[in-house]
Amino acid sequence: MKNADVLIIGAGAAGLMAAYTLAKAGKKVTVLEACNRTGGRIRTIDDTMFFKHAELGAEFVHGNLPVTLQLLHEAGIAYHPAGGEMWQYENGTFAKDAGMIEGWDLLMQKLDELQSDMTLRAFLDEYFAEEKFDSLKESVIRYANGYDTSDPARVSALALRREWQNEDEDTQYRIEGGYCTLVSYLAEVCKQHAGTIYLNAPVNHITWQPYVIKATTADGEVYEAKQAILAIPLGVWQAPETAKGHISFSPAINEQTTALKKLGFGAIIKVLLQFDEIFWEHVPAQHPEDGDLTNMAFLFTDEAIPTWWTQAPGHEPLLTGWLGGAAAAQKVNTPAEDILQQSLQSLSNVFNIPTEALKEKLVAWYVANWTADPYIYGSYAYDTVYTAAALTILKQPVADTLYFAGEFMYQGTAMGTVEAALTSGRDTAHRLLKL
Ligand SMILES: Cc1cc2nc3c(=O)[nH]c(=O)nc-3n(C[C@H](O)[C@H](O)[C@H](O)COP(=O)(O)OP(=O)(O)OC[C@H]3O[C@@H](n4cnc5c(N)ncnc54)[C@H](O)[C@@H]3O)c2cc1C
Repeated sequence: MKNADVLIIGAGAAGLMAAYTLAKAGKKVTVLEACNRTGGRIRTIDDTMFFKHAELGAEFVHGNLPVTLQLLHEAGIAYHPAGGEMWQYENGTFAKDAGMIEGWDLLMQKLDELQSDMTLRAFLDEYFAEEKFDSLKESVIRYANGYDTSDPARVSALALRREWQNEDEDTQYRIEGGYCTLVSYLAEVCKQHAGTIYLNAPVNHITWQPYVIKATTADGEVYEAKQAILAIPLGVWQAPETAKGHISFSPAINEQTTALKKLGFGAIIKVLLQFDEIFWEHVPAQHPEDGDLTNMAFLFTDEAIPTWWTQAPGHEPLLTGWLGGAAAAQKVNTPAEDILQQSLQSLSNVFNIPTEALKEKLVAWYVANWTADPYIYGSYAYDTVYTAAALTILKQPVADTLYFAGEFMYQGTAMGTVEAALTSGRDTAHRLLKL
């Protein structure tokens, strides 16, 4: 039996931020992490075949986000602006800055006027019913699906309004050394303040009563504490009882587990393709008059793997593919080799290079199918029309003993991000400390 003041289940950004805050405040903290590494959906590749610090999970700091940037400054970790030109490939041609959806201003105007919440699908059906809006509807659904990885029939229109009004595409950063440097910093500070982090320690069962917690891990080890912060992903909370990361509770916490199921959680596949040269910079497009892709950051297409990005403003032979939402969910059991093939086919169609030739240029590849990860089961949270009510329940600790944390608990404008997870971890720790 191992004793602590606070047990933290899950060593992602939220769990580690909570551990960092509590350990610094003098609490004896034990973190239990299911995997053999910390970071959760932050995973920087340490493989010499790849571009240094390639990210399988979180990659960008999406704006001037206060908690993330403050931590980076405190840790002395540098970060640099990311980005370059936005390109679109459609009907056989490339177009620069064509990412703006036609009719977007009207959409935002109607969203602005919306008084009570409804799903995106219901909103579009009600306010954009006419046939002339079909293409706008399709583009908006594709965006909500691909970027927010959300289900249009569940995602809250008001939440999307809040997010889209606050989008600042001009300000994005990448972290020098990768996001994992931030994870290492949090873990180090926690350890310096007598915190302990156990890896390969998936919690299966929690027995509790006020100020007494016993958490049992898969190997039968029991960890005891007065309080616990549950910082596992929403995908695990929503997975069936037979799923690997599932945690059962005695006594049951039915009100909370029901609330957790009302939140939205998407699906994502991220593909990293490292080539032997930056072929898109000097292989001209089918029509050289379309332009020069040297400073391309993002490329939006209609292909099976539709979104691609480079390391711009850096020039590296790495392309990252992105498939979000329903299409990614359907590929949860698709073998990585097949997704690689679909990725190469997508690029082949766009750049007019045979897939075999692309394969020859391929130095290393990785398919991160996060929806298939047994301790994650998806991408990140999106707000449903039930989210506000569910979070009111989840923000109340159970008998001041069980607390919830994670990116899905965040209610600001940076939903589904590392900022969301860090903010939730910090705020949950403050709530426990009664600050
Ligand atoms: C492909 C992808 C790209 C992304 N890109 C960005 C980006 O560019 N910028 C950005 O800001 N955000 C991005 N995000 C979102 C961001 O990564 C997440 O919001 C954030 O990392 C979530 O942190 P968390 O601590 O809430 O959860 P997680 O990181 O999921 O941590 C939860 C931890 O709990 C562990 N766990 C699960 N079950 C158990 C159990 N039973 N016992 C013990 N431990 C358990 C898991 O192994 C995991 O380590 C991306 C996410 C994905 C998937």
